[in-house]
Amino acid sequence: MPIEFERSVDEARLKSPLEAFETVTETVEHRWDPLTDRKARIVPDVFPDPEGGAETHSKGETGAALDALVGDSEGCFFCPDSIETATPEYPDTVGGGRTMRGEATAFPNLFPYAKHANVVVLTEEHFRPMTDLGPERLADGLACGLEYVRSVRDHEGSRLASINMNFLRSSGGSVFHPHMQVIADDHGTDRQARILRREREYDDEHDSRYWSDLLEHERSGDRYVGRTGGVEWVAPFAPLGQFHVAGVLDPDAIGGDDGVLSPDAELLDDLAVGIDGVLEYYADRGLNAFNFGLRFAPDDPASTPVLDIVARAPFEAYYVNDAFYAQTVHREGVVDVAPEVYASAVAEHVE
Ligand SMILES: [Zn+2]
Repeated sequence: MPIEFERSVDEARLKSPLEAFETVTETVEHRWDPLTDRKARIVPDVFPDPEGGAETHSKGETGAALDALVGDSEGCFFCPDSIETATPEYPDTVGGGRTMRGEATAFPNLFPYAKHANVVVLTEEHFRPMTDLGPERLADGLACGLEYVRSVRDHEGSRLASINMNFLRSSGGSVFHPHMQVIADDHGTDRQARILRREREYDDEHDSRYWSDLLEHERSGDRYVGRTGGVEWVAPFAPLGQFHVAGVLDPDAIGGDDGVLSPDAELLDDLAVGIDGVLEYYADRGLNAFNFGLRFAPDDPASTPVLDIVARAPFEAYYVNDAFYAQTVHREGVVDVAPEVYASAVAEHVE
C-alpha cells in the first residue's frame, strides 16, 4: 500500500489550576494528509461548544433564539417576492435567465468569486434549519449547480469547478436564506489545484487512482463511515476542520459523457442522502452550521470528485468563531476530536 499515514505526538506540560496546580500532561498530535502533505493537529478542547451544551439544541430550546437571529423575508433578496427583481440573470453565452429545479432557483452571483460564479437558492421559505433541508432539496440544488457547470463548460471552457455551501454566519455565510454557490474557471482554488496535481502524480507513479486506493485501505479501519449508493464516506486522517467527513464519488457512475457528473445521475441522490445524514449527526451534537465543497476536474481521469463537509462553530448570538490564527494565517487544520473517534457515530446517520 503506497499511502502513508504520518503522525507525531508531542506532550505539553503545565501546572493546572483545575488540578490544584499539579503538573498535568496534554497531548498534541500532528498529522500530515497522505495526498497533499497539508498538516493538521489534534489538541484538547479547541472547538466552541454550543451554548448550554448539545442537549439544549436537541430539545429545540434554541430554535426560537435561532429564528430571531435569522429574521424573516423582509429585505431578503433570495425570498420569492424579491428573487426576480433583485437577483441577476445569466448572460446569453450561458443561456440567459435563471434556471429552476424543484424549489431551487439558480442565477449568477452578483459578487463573483470566479470567472463563472452562481448562487443556487434552495428553499422558497426564508429559512430552514440544516436538518430540514432534506435530501430532495439538496439534490435539486446540486443538480442546478451541475447544470451550470455543464453550461459554462459547453460555452466557455473552465477546467475546474466546485459546488459549495456556507450555512449560517459562523460558517462565513452572509445571507441566511439557504443557498449553494458554484465557482468554475481554469485555475480552481488553491487546494483544488494542489489536489489535482497530486492526484495526477499519484496516478503516474502507481498506475491507480489515489481515492480508490485510499478507500480500499480505509474500508477495514475506524475512519470509514459507510456508503450511500455510489458514494463512500470517510472521516479524513488529517481533518480540514471539526467533524470533517469526505464523500468520494464513484468515478464510473458519473453518468455524463463529458466527465461532469450528470444532473440526472442517481449518484446525486446518493450524495444528497449522505450529506443529509452528516448534517443529522452534526445536529445531534448540538451544532447548526457547516461548510461543504464538492470539487471536479472533469478533464483528468486521475481525479475523483470528492465532497468535503466540515462542522462550524454553533451559530448563536455571541458565538466564538472556530477559525483562529492557526487556520487563517497558518493554513493548518486544528480539531479536538480525532476522525477515529467520530466516524462510527457519523455512520449511524449515513446509510
Ligand atoms: Zn429569504
